[in-house]
Amino acid sequence: MHIAIIGNGISGVTAARHVRKRSDHRITLISAESDYFFSRTALMYIYMGHLTFDQTKPYDDGFWARNRIDRLRARVKAVRPETNTLLLSDGRDIAYDRLVIATGSSPNKFGWPGQDLEGVQGLYSLQDLELLEQNAPNKNTCRRAVIVGGGLIGIELAEMLRSRDIQVTFLVRESSFWNGVLPDRDSALLNRHIREHHIDLRLQTNLKEILPGENGRVQAVVTDSGETIPCDLVGLTAGVSPNIGFLKGSGIDLDRGVLVNRYLETNLPGIYAIGDCAQQRAPMKGRKAVEAVWYTGRMMGETVAHSLCGQPTEYRPGPWFNSAKFLDVEFHTYGWVSPEQAQGVDEAHYHWRHADKPICLTLAYRISDGGLLGVNALGMRLRHEVFERWLSDGLPIGEVVNRMDQALFDPEFSGDYSRQIRRAFATHQPQPS
Ligand SMILES: Cc1cc2nc3c(=O)[nH]c(=O)nc-3n(C[C@H](O)[C@H](O)[C@H](O)COP(=O)(O)OP(=O)(O)OC[C@H]3O[C@@H](n4cnc5c(N)ncnc54)[C@H](O)[C@@H]3O)c2cc1C
Repeated sequence: MHIAIIGNGISGVTAARHVRKRSDHRITLISAESDYFFSRTALMYIYMGHLTFDQTKPYDDGFWARNRIDRLRARVKAVRPETNTLLLSDGRDIAYDRLVIATGSSPNKFGWPGQDLEGVQGLYSLQDLELLEQNAPNKNTCRRAVIVGGGLIGIELAEMLRSRDIQVTFLVRESSFWNGVLPDRDSALLNRHIREHHIDLRLQTNLKEILPGENGRVQAVVTDSGETIPCDLVGLTAGVSPNIGFLKGSGIDLDRGVLVNRYLETNLPGIYAIGDCAQQRAPMKGRKAVEAVWYTGRMMGETVAHSLCGQPTEYRPGPWFNSAKFLDVEFHTYGWVSPEQAQGVDEAHYHWRHADKPICLTLAYRISDGGLLGVNALGMRLRHEVFERWLSDGLPIGEVVNRMDQALFDPEFSGDYSRQIRRAFATHQPQPS
């Protein structure tokens, strides 16, 4: 049986590895982006000089031949389920018996005037990184950058540019950084932290237009307040969307992403979708239909491999978790801590904050029975398996606080705040925050 996988990111590669562990099927891994799998989350460290590209490759180059995983550098132009073939952009056809679509995402563009000018770019692919080297090699060539969109990739791009001393203005539509995801107090801590890193954070500010200079390159942006900000680079980081354009007309059901059932199967037999590009038809409780994060891609890749090897397996990701880094503040989240505007009536928050460092913890729990709903930690690391268990058990908030010392990952390095967290909880009033 020949399994073709479109996309050699974390989801496609995990699927390939696990199919190989379980079978002798022929595997072809197709990518338009790179010959070898690399860690997309480490892209920033290449620009910042902390890692070389080779150091972002989790496997040595011989791994693929040793494991009989064929690599094909090509763009798939169309999928033809009626003949079980893929049409490549160079005109070649590839036949498959089973197909896995693992094509990831691309940065959003919302039709802004000037969005395709030279010097305007997203940050997603290796090619984006190469372009950034051209657009922003140093502070003499690129004096100021404007970043549009206040998410995780936006803050990474800001940190990258600041590492070369390039001035950064950061346009964020929301009234506080990432407050569509974080409660106000967590978000306020990040606003301060971003500004302390000399990033010109503009809240409630939208991009209206990007203006060219005489050479046709970007020269300035105009915001919705009418301000013109001169710049040499515009970074578009207003979210990502699944790469599904090439699937139109294939007969595969599409919405925002490729629609899949719990087994990660599309509407057509033998065709699956995983990772950023997959959209669950019926998302599990507490999970979103499209989850564009690294670890979900990995879990989907492993799950689909079971189905491809004759053991149909449901995707069961368990409680939501994620981690990120905002400049030098680490962020861990498990379960759900709703921002104020999305908070249900049966949800309250206990918030603890360090007196003078950017460190805080927010625990969300049900008012009715005290059961734990989620945790956000900024500036401290938490133990995944401990919170997964506590969330599954719905451990009462008082118990969670009492046992915080079990949940801190590396108190010897980042500090043991469990006593302070416990002490402050004594005066906590259980009401919606
Ligand atoms: C800068 C950055 C930082 C990030 N940081 C984090 C983080 O800290 N934590 C986290 O959880 N997530 C993070 N993410 C998101 C995470 O990297 C993605 O969710 C994950 O890499 C998606 O994996 P994937 O396998 O679904 O797709 P991708 O990694 O996008 O791989 C898909 C591949 O398919 C290729 N492809 C697409 N269409 C075709 C076609 N038609 N033909 C051939 N090839 C095609 C693409 O070129 C690409 O190489 C970050 C993303 C970026 C860009």
